[in-house]
Amino acid sequence: MSADTAAESVQREEELNKINRDRCEKYIRSSKRNVTIKFLYDRLTKLGCDPPSDLMRCLDCTGRVGGFGAVEEIQVVSSDRKRNSIKKNGEEACAQTRDEIEGLLAKQNDGEAKLRLVPEIYLCRQHLRDESHAHEALVHELIHAVDMCRTKMDPIKNCIHMACTEIRAENLSGECHWMREMQNGRLATDFVGHGEKCVKRRAILSVKANPNCADKADEYVEAAFDRCFKDTFPFDRHPNLR
Ligand SMILES: [Zn+2]
Repeated sequence: MSADTAAESVQREEELNKINRDRCEKYIRSSKRNVTIKFLYDRLTKLGCDPPSDLMRCLDCTGRVGGFGAVEEIQVVSSDRKRNSIKKNGEEACAQTRDEIEGLLAKQNDGEAKLRLVPEIYLCRQHLRDESHAHEALVHELIHAVDMCRTKMDPIKNCIHMACTEIRAENLSGECHWMREMQNGRLATDFVGHGEKCVKRRAILSVKANPNCADKADEYVEAAFDRCFKDTFPFDRHPNLR
């Protein structure tokens, strides 16, 4: 066996990229048939926030900010910048490093830029385990979209708002269902109340991705928890997805 040449390893990486991209795009197509996702799309329209046709997209998230999941968590753009992405090797990639986000936040605090959360959903294609993982991530982001639509929340500046929408997204997406937790090797002996703990743990990680809120992420999540864990809107009750 000869040693790998640089060209061979570049080629292997390109092949892997293509596999990840095709797989991610397939999951987005199949999500249009997922009843929960269809329901949330329908609710968004009824709330007056018609989702754009390219709401959900696959991106290369190498070096992205945010902790653990399949989705870029903080999506802020200044009003003069349309898309939260740059071209990297001719492909779209998640643009925001922590430095960039902090730069934008500093500008906002100086009154130089007006930031908004973009109504776009990025799946980080190299972090998807399987179809249900991808669809849970999409449900998670659609819950944020519903929250942004139904209230005048400002999750960039208001850390309680951010904690609340993260709690709801973790809770209602099924990401903390016991089967998912078991697959992740996280289901310990304390079965009772595990869902709440999981929602809390993951919500704290998400809130930490916002530099405005990172310092006291656990306090914000604790303060918002009871109210927001109970709030199952737009579902009548918790959608037990399995
Ligand atoms: Zn989130």
